[in-house]
Amino acid sequence: MSTSRQGDHPPLLIDAATVSDWSATADVVIMGFGMAGACAALEARAAGASVVIVERTSGCTGSTSAAAGHFYLGGGTPVQQACGFDDDPVEMARYLEAVALDPDREKIRLYSEGSVAHFDWLEAQGVPFDRSYYPQKNVVQPGRECLIWTGNEQVWPYRDMAKPAPRGHKVAFEGEEGGGALALRILSERAEAAGATVMADCKVEGLIREGDRIVGVQARRFGEPVHVRARHGVVLAGGGFGQNPDMVARHVPILASAYVQGSPHDDGLAIRLGAAAGGTPIHMDEAFLTSPFYPPENLLKGILVNRDGQRFVAEDSYHSRSGIFSARQPDGIVYLIVDAAIFGYPHFASLTNQRLIDGFATVAEMEAGLALPEGSLQATMAEYNRHAADGADPDFHKHPKWLKPLDEAPYAAFDLSFGRAVYTGFTLGGLRVSADGEVLDAAGTPLPGLYAAGACASNIAQDSNGYASGTCLGEASFFGRRAGAHAARLPARKATA
Ligand SMILES: Cc1cc2nc3c(=O)[nH]c(=O)nc-3n(C[C@H](O)[C@H](O)[C@H](O)COP(=O)(O)OP(=O)(O)OC[C@H]3O[C@@H](n4cnc5c(N)ncnc54)[C@H](O)[C@@H]3O)c2cc1C
Repeated sequence: MSTSRQGDHPPLLIDAATVSDWSATADVVIMGFGMAGACAALEARAAGASVVIVERTSGCTGSTSAAAGHFYLGGGTPVQQACGFDDDPVEMARYLEAVALDPDREKIRLYSEGSVAHFDWLEAQGVPFDRSYYPQKNVVQPGRECLIWTGNEQVWPYRDMAKPAPRGHKVAFEGEEGGGALALRILSERAEAAGATVMADCKVEGLIREGDRIVGVQARRFGEPVHVRARHGVVLAGGGFGQNPDMVARHVPILASAYVQGSPHDDGLAIRLGAAAGGTPIHMDEAFLTSPFYPPENLLKGILVNRDGQRFVAEDSYHSRSGIFSARQPDGIVYLIVDAAIFGYPHFASLTNQRLIDGFATVAEMEAGLALPEGSLQATMAEYNRHAADGADPDFHKHPKWLKPLDEAPYAAFDLSFGRAVYTGFTLGGLRVSADGEVLDAAGTPLPGLYAAGACASNIAQDSNGYASGTCLGEASFFGRRAGAHAARLPARKATA
């Protein structure tokens, strides 16, 4: 008997009684060889479990390979210490709780308390991190420098809620892209060297269930069905759903107007498999969304205004926070306003289409040129300049470091409007899981034998407002390890095959 067929897709849930031929058997079977899958495999092997990773591509080509290579880690890592930053797990947890949409305190505590040990573990696997600090506000450091501010730690109100510390740790790699691929190459080689078996070019299509327990996966390799039995558990680590237009339209339509980054295989199947088995997708309507207007960092001294000539966010926010605020402005209209003293072209990698609209001799001329309501921009800038001269921003509390009156003509405006500038993003919603990666049903009860980690699970990264670069790789690796370890320890089901 097969159940849960969706459209033309083969059944998502298959009764083990219908499977006569098992192609392979392992204690732990992992769907996907990205960051979460590799770390789950390593930890399951360390616990003595046999591991099969079923990967649909020929290699490691998931979103991890596209990642810049930031890991959000803190609490006093060797890099933080070497660079002279005080941090501790309590402050890290305080920040993560403050900034989260729906904080899971237990996971945040474990992640913060385990962060230094996790950093040490990554290094012990061979993932390189320099002992260096990149002080400028940037999206990704251009060189090998490690430590960078990647969140809203210094942004109001968070700077008053937890002692700020930089926690973005970039893999030592020259350039803005490639750190994730380097980390994954190292971790995947380690996993294979540790004895994990990789079944490449093998696409998981369904979960195999025996009674109430998940006992394997059904996959397809070069057109032929393959059944892989899991004695202890199956770990879903198959990525997000940004490349599934139906799921995007249903759950997070704002992404339909953005350029969705990441693996072409982010089809949401891992989430749909978990849901078919009784799991609960959460935060599916949230996404990482950004159109970074810095570097150069001086542009943070400009202001963002909407179609009413009003500011709406502290401009020194992490770019996905200013990004989501911008995308949600009326008609998506947003302009970055600068004066001659701070003028520069926004430049981050390929995201350079924040068009310079024009230069203007006066604020009144700029207001008319942008078709803003008469007097609106003039009032906003007069107010902003008056307070900035005193190093204050009573409306949005931009950090004094980024405050200066915008009073040196000529002025210029860049178009950051959603739908005109390029916004990029990826999905953040996923299966509700325990701190050990167990997939939970609506009542919070673990589904026997089923785990999830990485982009198909929901852990710390929940929305664009609270996102800090490095959280996805951080949690995919951290909770991926916990899922692999827990699955390895799960008592095996009495064999029936
Ligand atoms: C451009 C870009 C830059 C980023 N930079 C960062 C960063 O610096 N720091 C950070 O924290 N996050 C970053 N992210 C987010 C981060 O890369 C992802 O959240 C993370 O890599 C997800 O890891 P994963 O293991 O869950 O998924 P993936 O790395 O996508 O791995 C999933 C694997 O599953 C395989 N798979 C899919 N379907 C199947 C199937 N049916 N059967 C078998 N295998 C399957 C895929 O082929 C893939 O190998 C970035 C994302 C993008 C797009």
